[in-house]
Amino acid sequence: MSARASRPSLPELDERQLRRVRRTVSGFACPDSAVEVIVEGRALVNFCSNDYLGLARHPAAAAAMCAAAARCGVGSGASHLVTGHGAEHERLEEELAEFTGRPRALLFSTGYMANLAAVGVLAGAGDFVLLDRLSHASLIDAALLARARFKRFAHADAADAERLLRDRADRASGARTTLVATDGVFSMDGDVAPLVSLAASARAHAAWLLVDDAHGLGVLGARGRGLVEECALTVDDVPLLVGTLGKAFGSFGAFIAGGENLLEELLQHARSYRYTTALPQPVAAATRATLAIAQRESWRRERVLALTRRFRSAAREAGITLGLSATPIQPVLLGDVSTALAASAQLFEAGFWVAAIRPPTVPPDSARLRVTLSAAHSEAQVDALVEVLSRCVRRN
Ligand code: PMP
Repeated sequence: MSARASRPSLPELDERQLRRVRRTVSGFACPDSAVEVIVEGRALVNFCSNDYLGLARHPAAAAAMCAAAARCGVGSGASHLVTGHGAEHERLEEELAEFTGRPRALLFSTGYMANLAAVGVLAGAGDFVLLDRLSHASLIDAALLARARFKRFAHADAADAERLLRDRADRASGARTTLVATDGVFSMDGDVAPLVSLAASARAHAAWLLVDDAHGLGVLGARGRGLVEECALTVDDVPLLVGTLGKAFGSFGAFIAGGENLLEELLQHARSYRYTTALPQPVAAATRATLAIAQRESWRRERVLALTRRFRSAAREAGITLGLSATPIQPVLLGDVSTALAASAQLFEAGFWVAAIRPPTVPPDSARLRVTLSAAHSEAQVDALVEVLSRCVRRN
């Protein structure tokens, strides 16, 4: 069956309540807060973006972007390898390498493209890619595009990954390489990968380990350097670290950090690097500003984690069941699609924007509200959300 035949038609999407609609943010209710938005003429508190540190509307980032646009224009005009690589890109790469404690970093236009490149540089046709069952779609697509043989291990289950690695070692006739790839913080569940055990298994079986810490960087670790910092893993343990810039760093784009040689291989061979226009320099300039603020203002990290704890304890008191997550991604599992949509609609009516996440983004029967916290939220907003949530979830 072709992919086209296996996907639901538009009427089927309607019937199964799976049709996505976009809501347009027409403005903001506050000068530099990204969480108070105007949508369809209503003021809402946004509890479903990935702007964890509240940097997306920071005036210093906007000023850096405008100044760079005046200096170098809005478009890069070509790919990095032709004439599109500018001083802002170069500086940002140096700053990202320093931030992650890796020898080198390479910018990509999106995290999706970075993952295509990272998997593709390590695994080719016939190689093995082992993925966590809940890995981000871009890692799965990357393994498919690489024409690798890929298997998924049980979610956050290092013992299952070890089993697959052993199994592969026993039967690895022609396979040249094995790559273990996982999200650091899982995007729809907020829980974390067992990185210390995965790194030990990968090392024992001479496999590569790739960590996509899109949701951990900026938020976790003593200095905000993500789950790899929290787990004290070096570049030898995690040769390729993927980070995105559109989440905690409030901007746009992505990067891969790692050793010199591997990054040079990426630069030379990655098709999602070579055949695309370089990120605009003003975006890189804005990211340099937010990266500096994220490092300087550790209170943002502390605040979003404190608000997360506040949300969880209020939810527990209100009898709301949450997933096992200590990160700003807090799923409220509801199961069926119509329940999740109804709860999201009720929250919308009450002034809160919390998206219902449905299959295929999450597995069947695990539709949920994905609540995310930001340092830009107030305690009162968090308390008010829990209050309304407890009514919606109970009513459904
Ligand atoms: N990896 C993970 C874990 C993500 O959640 C996302 C974004 N949803 C991406 C990669 C893709 O990043 P980008 O939005 O920059 O393409």
